[in-house]
Amino acid sequence: MTFPQLLSNSWGNKKIKLSKIFVDYLLKLCKQIAHMQARNHIPFAMSWWWLYCLGTDQPIEAVGTMAAAMGGLLPDIDHPKSALGRRIPFISIPLSYLVGHRGVTHSLMAVVVMLILLPLAAFTMDTRIALLVAPVCLGYLSHIAGDAMTPSGVPLLWPNRKRYTVNLFKTTSLMESVFVGVFTISVVILGDIALAVLESTVAKLPLLPVSDHHREYY
Ligand SMILES: [Zn+2]
Repeated sequence: MTFPQLLSNSWGNKKIKLSKIFVDYLLKLCKQIAHMQARNHIPFAMSWWWLYCLGTDQPIEAVGTMAAAMGGLLPDIDHPKSALGRRIPFISIPLSYLVGHRGVTHSLMAVVVMLILLPLAAFTMDTRIALLVAPVCLGYLSHIAGDAMTPSGVPLLWPNRKRYTVNLFKTTSLMESVFVGVFTISVVILGDIALAVLESTVAKLPLLPVSDHHREYY
């Protein structure tokens, strides 16, 4: 099934209203953060969720897409000037002081903790919220993967502070925007084909340790 087919299945009826609210919100958010790296994390996270929906043959819904986008911003909660950190300074400022930027929130440990805590929280609150667990986690993972493509890398094995990178492009570079743009458009247009290509190429990417720390990015 292709992305447009899934989308028309999901959005063909009463969900249109919700979709419009989501699109309006996203456009507003993109305008506010157009100068920041988050503008790339959002479509990248959404694309990961869409790929997951395509791979599992489930409808693509606005709520899940929005949850993935929020998950894609979540790791930068450790930076007071990130898109999310600026909105909740009472969390981002102490967190950046305690753990620094691109620390534990950009590690596999954070993913494991989230995979444990989010379902627990969801199941004790509302089953509808439980549906947000997968997109938030995938969005979160996409952020770590995205940052791992930059020279600064991420401390995957935190508390070991060694950083790892596949070093594909520099943060805020034109190449980064081109990569995310092509990736997102490929997912939207090609659907299953994009999924197959991705599966065959990801395993071939070399994960290298970062020898010297570059300037820290979002
Ligand atoms: Zn980050």
